Amino acid sequence: MTKQSVEKEKVIVVGAGPAGLTAAYMLMKKGYTPLVLEADSTYVGGISRTASYKGFNFDIGGHRFFSKAKEVESLWSEILPDDMLERQRKSRIYFNKKFLAYPLKPVDAFLALGPLEAALCAKSYLESKIHPIASPANFEDVIVNSFGRRLFEHFFKTYTEKVWGMPCSEISADWAKQRIKGLSLRAAVLDAFTSPLKKRLTKKKPADTQNVVTTLIDTFRYPRKGPGMLWEAAAEKIAAGGGEIKMGHRVTRLKMSDGGKWNVSTLDADGGKHNFSADYVISSAPLSETIKAVTPVVPDNIVAAANGLRYRDFLTVALVVKDRQLFDDNWIYIQDPGTVVGRIQNFKAWSPEMVPSAELNCYGLEYFCTEGDPLWEEEDAKLIELGTKELISLGLAHEGDIRDGAVVRMPKAYPVYDDAYATHVDTIKSFIHARCPGLFMVGRNGMHRYNNQDHSMVTAMLTVENIVTHSQRYDPWQVNEDAHYIESGKTGDASIYSAPSKKK
Ligand SMILES: Cc1cc2nc3c(=O)[nH]c(=O)nc-3n(C[C@H](O)[C@H](O)[C@H](O)COP(=O)(O)OP(=O)(O)OC[C@H]3O[C@@H](n4cnc5c(N)ncnc54)[C@H](O)[C@@H]3O)c2cc1C
Repeated sequence: MTKQSVEKEKVIVVGAGPAGLTAAYMLMKKGYTPLVLEADSTYVGGISRTASYKGFNFDIGGHRFFSKAKEVESLWSEILPDDMLERQRKSRIYFNKKFLAYPLKPVDAFLALGPLEAALCAKSYLESKIHPIASPANFEDVIVNSFGRRLFEHFFKTYTEKVWGMPCSEISADWAKQRIKGLSLRAAVLDAFTSPLKKRLTKKKPADTQNVVTTLIDTFRYPRKGPGMLWEAAAEKIAAGGGEIKMGHRVTRLKMSDGGKWNVSTLDADGGKHNFSADYVISSAPLSETIKAVTPVVPDNIVAAANGLRYRDFLTVALVVKDRQLFDDNWIYIQDPGTVVGRIQNFKAWSPEMVPSAELNCYGLEYFCTEGDPLWEEEDAKLIELGTKELISLGLAHEGDIRDGAVVRMPKAYPVYDDAYATHVDTIKSFIHARCPGLFMVGRNGMHRYNNQDHSMVTAMLTVENIVTHSQRYDPWQVNEDAHYIESGKTGDASIYSAPSKKK
């Protein structure tokens, strides 16, 4: 260790996903020697990992790299200077037994619905504008107010309920607001008509041409071997800079000592127990799990709030198929009540290097489920059978095309926004602020936020800035809420440090 690093406080980072690795990387650049404790024995990258099976690489979902925050865009370029591809988005939606462009083009929607139903949808849209639901209380109300009831029924209800496994009326309005931030029917329609023209008129690089609504972005970056490539490079740089990443170490206890230090206990894959000590702990592990690991034991109301936080889980059936080039979309949403699969990824379309053979391709069939439910518990062979059957019935592969398959289960892929989540998060957050000095939550499950990688990274960057300046200049909990630098402006255009905010 250098003299400088001995003088810095010791920081333990829980989790080697985008948030944890960003925190460790930023600390390392400031001369700290962070210790990262990661529960997974094999993969860094968390949900943004790239899984590998016999040389076929696939994401947990498909991960677009896109951010309004310039610090995030530059960090990605710094970590992986030569391996980021610029990709054009192509995605469709399977609706009424037809594949339609997504984002939906009005003419396609019109043809798929038929003239009578399209007219009824227009009427219902106008009704929702004239007589909106007075106090929209949940996802359903917000979407009905924005698009009309009939479009809600056609294009939102089935898929959303498949993703979340609960009625739209029980999903918080926050999620709808976040998901469709800035997206009105008028914006979607205008985008559908004007973006081909805009593309023809401008010769600028795709990533910096225009203000965009996140849901509609049509270009993005992607590491040539998947998102895991970037996070593995980050891990290597952290280690080269003096930091340490211990894989297969699940944090089980966070003990506050009288002297203000934190003792962090882990369990390794063989059941071995380990202890580490730090001045600060930055945790990207789920908020519910982190707070229940704190000792002295937290009060009952905090445990109850932690137990009230819910998650939705996810599994990918990766199928190795003969490549007949039947479709070139990055992904297709399956909006069909008779089909279990929610979305299908085409990994060769993300990057040719995801697949080690010209004759084969790898499709990721995404199933939304809940840990312990019949889908989650199903044997891998049966899931591969289900995926094969559904892929063929959708016309995306022929009988006999499927050569192999693998299943990856991802617990806690989605923090659930139900009626009670915001209150639970506030309760736990206030307790941490008041009673756990030196413990900082970051990231998606760490803050129970439906974050993309960039928002997770920003929470880590702001937390590190507070630690190294020994200040509370930034409030990472505001990221994704009222942080204007994230949701407006052009790609990579705004600074995350331009809007200091007081802790709430
Ligand atoms: C289907 C899907 C598609 C997505 N698509 C995109 C996309 O296109 N673009 C995008 O930017 N984002 C996308 N995301 C979101 C992205 O995956 C997340 O925002 C990002 O991975 C969150 O990073 P994180 O570090 O906060 O959390 P995570 O990725 O969850 O990482 C947390 C890490 O902590 C570890 N951990 C948990 N508990 C413990 C413990 N007790 N001890 C030690 N370690 C622990 C976990 O193993 C994990 O490695 C998608 C997510 C999903 C589910």
